Amino acid sequence: MSKTISINAGSSSLKWQLYKMPQEEVIAKGLIERIGLEDGVSTVKFNGQTESETTDIPDHKAAVKILLDDLIRLNIIANYEEITGVGHRIVAGGEYFKESALVDEKVIEQVEELSLLAPLHNPGAALGIRAFKELLPDITSVVVFDTAFHTSMPEVAYRYPIANRYYEDYKVRKYGAHGTSHQYVAGEAAKILDKPLEELKLITCHIGNGASITAVDGGKSVDTSMGLTPLGGVMMGTRSGDLDPAIIPFLIDREPELADAEKIRNVFNRESGLLGISEKSSDMRDIIAGMHEGDHNSTLAFNMFIDRLKKYIGQYVAVLNGVDAIVFTAGIGENSDVVREAVISGLTWFGVDLDPEKNVPGANGIISTDAAKVKVLVIPTDEELVIARDVERLKTK
Ligand code: ADP
Repeated sequence: MSKTISINAGSSSLKWQLYKMPQEEVIAKGLIERIGLEDGVSTVKFNGQTESETTDIPDHKAAVKILLDDLIRLNIIANYEEITGVGHRIVAGGEYFKESALVDEKVIEQVEELSLLAPLHNPGAALGIRAFKELLPDITSVVVFDTAFHTSMPEVAYRYPIANRYYEDYKVRKYGAHGTSHQYVAGEAAKILDKPLEELKLITCHIGNGASITAVDGGKSVDTSMGLTPLGGVMMGTRSGDLDPAIIPFLIDREPELADAEKIRNVFNRESGLLGISEKSSDMRDIIAGMHEGDHNSTLAFNMFIDRLKKYIGQYVAVLNGVDAIVFTAGIGENSDVVREAVISGLTWFGVDLDPEKNVPGANGIISTDAAKVKVLVIPTDEELVIARDVERLKTK
């Protein structure tokens, strides 16, 4: 028996989950917020209780120390030795990482080098890895990449039709994201459908604040909607998704101050999507509430969101030359019967049909009618569990 922590560290936060392995039992989980800012907060959930503590957390090492001390203080572990493994979620693995890997100095340097592809995520993740290395140097440490599942994409899908030198010099290509989630729900879908994954054509829709759609053929990602970075693809909470690239120089011509990489990145990453159109919120619950109140901008935001999802699903039916099942997951995909109904009701030509008695809040499993040719499923994602499993699989002691 061993205890494994899965870690999702960002620039100022660190989400964790402690597992008893190989039983895959969640012992405790928590979130450390406001690292490097005043009044950091550490929250721990275990045994149905929630403990929260406000304290200064100057850096990631301090955050990891607080997490480990919380585990001891709350009697969740008796000593550090009980923890035998840690798995770190990494957003960008570039072309270096086709699968999860054991951490060494070179791996950490590569994660840092890939920060250009995930500036909001990789630097914090690298700090998290280093913090664990310092405090628990002898445990198995593994990195699990959001991009790894998509390294099976064929060149025709991952290359952009721009001059070769941008790929050769800078590796400008599609990497995708949310791979751990797409891979997990594809595997779960095969179990629910009781068919070998190798024989299934699936379209997996991870729709949360960030959203991506993946075409999965025989268990392998063959195309995905996010691109070089998580900005590409469908419309999201605050991200635009795909655009005519000419919009960027067009705006710079009119507002020259936008000719600054950070500023223009912000326009499309933080001020667009549901937020940009509704001018109200990036949260789908607020958008649906606004729509029900008759607010024009919220209604437009909702309809555009659905339109982009439908178009991507349609594209991937073409990429796969057919589809056996469409899977919904993540915050919106798991919880919003309204979004699922709106997407699927526009795709009936493909042979999908929702059962209104099954497509309800809290749905889990198949939500299409028995007669539908293409099945529709809701599957709660569990990226933390995949990370813990990879630590178990790669563990060295
Ligand atoms: P992240 O990408 O930050 O991990 P999540 O997967 O947690 O995001 O999804 C967050 C999104 O899920 C938010 O837009 C939120 O409004 C949406 N969501 C959660 N519950 C519901 C619900 N019942 N109906 C509609 N949207 C919901």
